[in-house]
Amino acid sequence: MLQKRHSEGHRVGIGGWLRAAVLGANDGVVSTASLVIGVAAADAPTSAIVTAGVAGLVGGALSMAVGEYVSVSSQRDVEEADLEQERGELRDQPEQELNELTWLLTHKGMSAETAKTAAREMTDHDALGAHALEELGIRPGELARPLQAAVVSALAFAVGAALPLTAIAFSSVATRMGITAAATLAALALLGAWSARLGNAPIGRAVLRVVLGGMIAMGLTALIGYAFGVAAG
Ligand SMILES: [Zn+2]
Repeated sequence: MLQKRHSEGHRVGIGGWLRAAVLGANDGVVSTASLVIGVAAADAPTSAIVTAGVAGLVGGALSMAVGEYVSVSSQRDVEEADLEQERGELRDQPEQELNELTWLLTHKGMSAETAKTAAREMTDHDALGAHALEELGIRPGELARPLQAAVVSALAFAVGAALPLTAIAFSSVATRMGITAAATLAALALLGAWSARLGNAPIGRAVLRVVLGGMIAMGLTALIGYAFGVAAG
């Protein structure tokens, strides 16, 4: 079977891990900053803000872990099923598979002669590996890893969440919202620039997007917290 799909969500390789970590940290920063600023806007004492922030950190990290585990597990199931199918095809119809590999190589720019030779040599060397890579875009030794993905995302979220939590815990009541917002926006700008660099995307636009998103999130929760504080007080 010929599948012309590119492998998605390559979670393996250092680039994939880094991107997952940056996204996790980004989530941790935004959600925790919004949470603690919302509670602070309701005029809550620092102890209540820190309690809410710690709960948000732990809950968010666990939810990242579970979500990532589930999504990467299903990706892994698909990869394993694809490999199993490929293994069966190589066993049952080796000639057709050789032609298929040859065809794929010509589409990569090889002449028919070269592709034929290359396909034969690749098949002798590691038929399954060659088909997995050329057809499915996966390397049999580097399948998606659910557990590692879960741990990386949860840790990254926790690290990101720790920043606004620390900022608000150690600021005075008068300055706590401003300092937390400033620290959050600075962290978001850095993360945005880093993730743009990882993806070779324009940095300015990425930074602007993530900073604006953070401002909106914190602004909205501050408004809601303020409204609740007024209603309760
Ligand atoms: Zn094949």
